[in-house]
Amino acid sequence: MLRVALDAPLRRVFDYLPPPGAAVGACRAGLRVEVRFGRQTKVGLIVEVGRGSDLPTARLKAASVVLDTEPPLDGITFELVRWAADYYHHPLGEALAAALPSALRAGRPLHARETRWQWRADGAQAVAGQPRLGPRQRALVAALSTGASIGEAQLEALGAGVREALKGFASRGWVESFVHEAPPLAPPVATVAQGPVLTAAQADALAAIGATLGTFAPFLLHGVTGSGKTEVYLRSIEAVLARGEQALVLVPEIALTPQAVERFSTRYSVPLAVLHSGLTDSERLQMWRAARSGAAPIVIGTRSAVFVPLARPGIVIVDEEHDASYKQQEGFRYSARDLAVLRAQRHGIPVVLGSATPSLETLQHAESGRYQRVRLPERAGAAGAPRTAIVDLRMHEERHGIATPSMLAMQRHLAAGGQVLLYLNRRGYAPQLFCPACSWAAPCGECDARMTVHLKRHRLICHHCGAQTPVPFACPTCGAEVRPVGQGTERIEDALDEFFPGVPVVRIDRDTIQSRGEIEAALERVHSGAARILVGTQMLTKGHDFPDVTLVVVLNADQGLFGSDFRASERLAQSIVQVSGRAGRASRPGEVLVQTACPEHPLLVRLMQEGYDGYAKAALAERAEARWPPFSRLALLRADSTAREAALAFLEEARTLAGGAAGNAVRLLGPAAAAMERRAGRFRAQLLLESGSRAALQQFLGPWLESIGALPSARRVRWSIDVDPLEVS
Ligand code: ADP
Ligand code: ZN
Ligand code: ZN
Repeated sequence: MLRVALDAPLRRVFDYLPPPGAAVGACRAGLRVEVRFGRQTKVGLIVEVGRGSDLPTARLKAASVVLDTEPPLDGITFELVRWAADYYHHPLGEALAAALPSALRAGRPLHARETRWQWRADGAQAVAGQPRLGPRQRALVAALSTGASIGEAQLEALGAGVREALKGFASRGWVESFVHEAPPLAPPVATVAQGPVLTAAQADALAAIGATLGTFAPFLLHGVTGSGKTEVYLRSIEAVLARGEQALVLVPEIALTPQAVERFSTRYSVPLAVLHSGLTDSERLQMWRAARSGAAPIVIGTRSAVFVPLARPGIVIVDEEHDASYKQQEGFRYSARDLAVLRAQRHGIPVVLGSATPSLETLQHAESGRYQRVRLPERAGAAGAPRTAIVDLRMHEERHGIATPSMLAMQRHLAAGGQVLLYLNRRGYAPQLFCPACSWAAPCGECDARMTVHLKRHRLICHHCGAQTPVPFACPTCGAEVRPVGQGTERIEDALDEFFPGVPVVRIDRDTIQSRGEIEAALERVHSGAARILVGTQMLTKGHDFPDVTLVVVLNADQGLFGSDFRASERLAQSIVQVSGRAGRASRPGEVLVQTACPEHPLLVRLMQEGYDGYAKAALAERAEARWPPFSRLALLRADSTAREAALAFLEEARTLAGGAAGNAVRLLGPAAAAMERRAGRFRAQLLLESGSRAALQQFLGPWLESIGALPSARRVRWSIDVDPLEVS
């Protein structure tokens, strides 16, 4: 009897009988099987081969076929997924589905396979006896007669129509096909281009990491922006390759940071397996196979690459470890960063978490000595740290969101031949369309939110649910004239046209950049110097290297100062420091201006005076005081429904169920409506669980989630559990 994990939202596995006639030993844990599931055919993974079932044997269906002779996921990766499914309380079948390329879930073979064709015993003579052969048939005969067999590549080269000829030959018994399984390629020998001479700090970091190869050792590589963290990754990988092992590099985003991959591909002449969401299913399978077989010594990927099997793992690197994209925010809500550390531990290899602005969780691990911290305190090469100053928006006139001192600085830097970067984490033209007569402010009909004005597209768009309407000319309630209030990147771009006529501007946000091609074109305009001013959102903060940018202006630091989430200040500090780090990366000195109406806010004061480290120290003290992570563990039960009361009622019942079971070890906070209660027409609420002990929280969650799943009120809502949630507002 086989226990099979299937890609289904049910928290259980399914029992099947082995396929009829399957050899003893053909069914093992970890192999894929094809089964009938309801009216569908599904591919699942055997998680266990057992004796009995809760169901009588007569009611069990047999699996159709076992697809593998060896498990697609190695033992450690398979266990990692099982652990993650347990820990994040997600159905195992869906978790495994997230770890396998969709082509494998569709039944494609584990190894690259190819159908090849060859002559049958006397096929060649039979054809030779034919009186009339067409040109395609003659070409086919020639191809078949040159070597032992021909495959896809040769058929393609012979051109259209030859497949018809081949079919004809086959039907007359002249040729036969066979399946050729490509053996895993031997690992290629890496040749490495020369890198720069390491700084003393880089050399120390490399020595520390290098000394741990072959053993589990977690590192925080804490280096200011531009300090040459990537160079440390590259040299560590070099040492790993020299041992014949593989490196797994996780990055937040690939499509938007082509430079990141380029630095690896120009340094090493070995195949890279690059895994990201922009691949077709076949491309992804090909990359995955190269990682698994070891044919690709370096594997670079986004979040889900943490589950890619490796033939000879040697190191895991998590670049920009603080980035929120490492945590999946829906479905299987795992943290790839946290799993990367666990995975490295199980493989017995080092893991390097790199950042200029480490998450408070990771910093605390370094403080407590669990992670070894290596620092790169200074910029590499000629670059010095940028000068940072506050621009008090209460004291200075501002036009279209740009205050006079910022304007003057822009003029100065442009005149000196520098590039200028304006950062505003808000796309669109303006965040509100407002009626001064009656205070109407274009609400979204489906969310508790305002519509954003997108003037170029003549649209009001809700950034929460995507709803769109045309921009009205007059107030729909009183008929007065309405006007856009506040700034988005589109408006800044317009204003720049007015303030700096003729100076070329490039805007980088989700409205202007939708593909890899567009970001490459935009970056090219920046690097060639064709664009002089850059305007953009968060997208601009992500790891780009803009050597000629000498001035960075943070247009509105206040957006994050009063966020309702306990991580709002951490995010704000990180993005200010990250975007500031784009200034003055080459030899020219950089300057950073931060516009705010609250210059005395303690977060900003700390950040300006003591940098990210000073901020982080204070923030950690606050978290300890308030018992927030990393000094406690959280889980968030979310629910939403089209009926306002349903979500809260369900959460109330869930809380009641918890009753005494939670004991003293787990505190329940709420339920409460979400900060934005209504979104896309659904009312949202949440119940927060907090515990000083991860084990206590886990022990409580399992049985509790099972019991609340059975509540009648659970059927009237959509609910989910988020362990270690990133957002709790
Ligand atoms: P980080 O990832 O820490 O922000 P990078 O690795 O992008 O920093 O390095 C910043 C710049 O410094 C890059 O242009 C890089 O080529 C250069 N660089 C790195 N290490 C050195 C070094 N040892 N000597 C000279 N330049 C270096
Ligand atoms: Zn009005
Ligand atoms: Zn909306």
